[in-house]
Parts: sequence; C-alpha cells; structure tokens
Amino acid sequence: MISYGRQSISQEDIDAVVDVLRSDRLTQGGAVNDFERSVADYCGAKHAVAVNSGTSALHIAYEALGVGEGDEVIMPALTFAATANAVKFLGGVPVFCDIDVDTMNIDTSKIEALITNKTKGIAPVHFSGKPCDMEKIHAIAKKHDLFVLEDACHALGSKYKGKRVGSLSDVTVFSFHPVKSITTGEGGMVTTDNDELFEKMNLLRTHGITKDSEKLEGESHGPWYHEMQILGYNYRITDIQCALGTSQMKRLDEFVEKRQKIADYYDEKLSDMEGIKLPINDKDNQSAWHLYVVRVPEERRKELFETFLENQIMPQVHYIPVYKHPYYQKIGYKDLKLEETEKYYWSAISLPIYSDLEAVDQDKVIKVLKSTLAQN
Ligand SMILES: *Cc1c(COP(=O)(O)O)cnc(C)c1O
Repeated sequence: MISYGRQSISQEDIDAVVDVLRSDRLTQGGAVNDFERSVADYCGAKHAVAVNSGTSALHIAYEALGVGEGDEVIMPALTFAATANAVKFLGGVPVFCDIDVDTMNIDTSKIEALITNKTKGIAPVHFSGKPCDMEKIHAIAKKHDLFVLEDACHALGSKYKGKRVGSLSDVTVFSFHPVKSITTGEGGMVTTDNDELFEKMNLLRTHGITKDSEKLEGESHGPWYHEMQILGYNYRITDIQCALGTSQMKRLDEFVEKRQKIADYYDEKLSDMEGIKLPINDKDNQSAWHLYVVRVPEERRKELFETFLENQIMPQVHYIPVYKHPYYQKIGYKDLKLEETEKYYWSAISLPIYSDLEAVDQDKVIKVLKSTLAQN
C-alpha cells in the first residue's frame, strides 16, 4: 500500500534508539532534555516541554493558559478532534470558526464575530503545514486580550514570513505521530518563550510533583523530599522515543525539502487538469507539506477514494468537521453548520506525500487520479 503518509527511519535513527536501550535510563534521563533543546533551538523558542503525545501537549498547554469551566476557545472545525477535545478535558467550550476556501485555514475575517465575554483564546491550526495568517490572528488576540495557541501538529518545519513556526505565539504544539514531520512513535511537544507557562507545563507533565529545592513550598524533610503542588498527569515521554526524536530532527530540513519536491511535482502534473482544485503553493511561507489535499467534484470523491484503494493506494480524508462527530452532536453542536468547512469536507482527498515516496509510486497516484476523473 502507498499510504497518504508514513515515517522515514534511517540506520542512525535505529542506532540512537539502541544506544538508549543499552544505557541505564529508559525514561527521565538526558535524552528528553536533548530533544527539547533541539526542537526549541530549531524553532527559535526559549523553552520546550516534551510529552507522550500531541494530545497531551494540547491538554497541558490549554491548562497552563488557564482554560477552565465554561471558557471558550475559537478554533477551526477542520482539524483533528484533539484540538477541541483538550479544551473539553478542562470543561471549556470549543467554538468553531469557518475556514477560508483557498488556504483551508481558519478564516480570520470570521473570528471577531465569535468573541464573547467568555472567550479565552484562539487556537489556529496550520492545516496541511501551511501557516495561518498569524499577523491578523495576533492583532485580534491583542485587541481582545486573548491567548494564541498554535496547533502546529502539521507544521514542524514550516515558516511564516521567514520565521519558523514554534516561536510566534504564546504556545505552539507539535505531534510526533509517524505521519507527522518527524516521529518518536507517539509523542508531542509544546514550545513557549514564557517562563511561567513553561514551569506550569513541566509540573503538569509529571503529576504536579517537583523536587527542585528552589521551588518547594514547604520545608525539605531530607534528600528524598518532593512535593505535589498541583494536580498533574503522567504525560512523560521516554528517553527511547526522544533519542529517535533528536536523530529525526537532524533530518527535518531534508524531509521538508523532499516533501516540497513531491508537492511541486503534483502541481506540475495536475495543474492542467479540469475539475480539480490544488492546494496553494505559496513560496513566501514555507509549508512543511504534512498533507497534499486536492478537491474534486463531490459526486466523484467516494469513487476516487475506492479506486485508489483498489490500486493499493491509501489516501485519506482530512478531516470530518469536528462538530459532526456524534459526541459533539450530542453535546450541543447539532445546529452548527459551517458552510465552507462542509463544502471542503465533501470534496477533499489527501494524496500520498512523505519524504520516502518513490517517483514511480507518485506517478501511479497521478495516473489513477487522472484516469478516474477523466471517466464520466
Ligand atoms: C496529530 C494531530 C494532533 C494530535 O496529536 P497526537 O500526537 O496524535 O496526539 C492534534 N492536532 C492535529 C491538527 C493533528 O494533526
């Protein structure tokens, strides 16, 4: 099967993992810190907190930002459910905003109408890796005193106006699931320049417990002393995973370059086709090209998907609008209808794109796509 996305694992990656397996510490050793440093430095962020998934990263980030009972967070519905779920974990309320048809990102002209006295923040998602209009989002956030959490799970390696995603907002969240820019098997990270948020997320990651003598609230009882200061979780990631992560970071720029080439090739081969809308290939803002989404006539999409499967090609549809899932329908989103998001959903299909995609395989994808859509 030629999948819509997959990891690339080198011998160096394998060696890095084996080194940890032969060492004394499989978790809470030095590899976590090294990985955090490599991502923070790459992004130009002051701090990074590594955790066991992108979803955990979203959870501790929203919590550190103060999301609580009844607090509203504005986000696109065109995202993976976790962007919204993590707000629900805290008793908050996801408020879904429509997308811009061309960029597939949150439509910044529709954000302000959704702001109420309960709005706490905005959570833009760099869909497919293409950066959102952060200048506009920051201007709105500043005007209304809101936080900005970037869900950059698609966008490690993306650049907005020459600056890397990961250093632009209060917090930025990444995922290292195997289909993402780099992988740790499962894993996630939050980057921030804010010292207070950093301390809070560090505590939340590990049960709310600290051993740091400078941060104790009470008197130390002795060398074993530690304190649980807030209610936290065990969201720790292992050193095994982080060794893989650090090794993968060395290959990130190469991954993005390869994905860019694959996107360019799709553009070249598909641009003359009728009845298909290609993603914007905006060279000013570097996309990490997590996804290459084309839009086809609604009535042909299912047939195209099935024909791909018959040809051992595994496309995907990103995403079913979050509020369409039964859980959200049952908790009050039944009457919500975001027109552009839904139109997008019924026509979108994600073609295979990953750094090790072979030219012959990409040609096969193009051939199946063209021959299927050419038939009436
Ligand atoms: C992958 C992803 C997540 C969740 O990350 P996990 O590591 O799978 O928990 C959240 N948001 C978006 C947009 C994603 O693509």
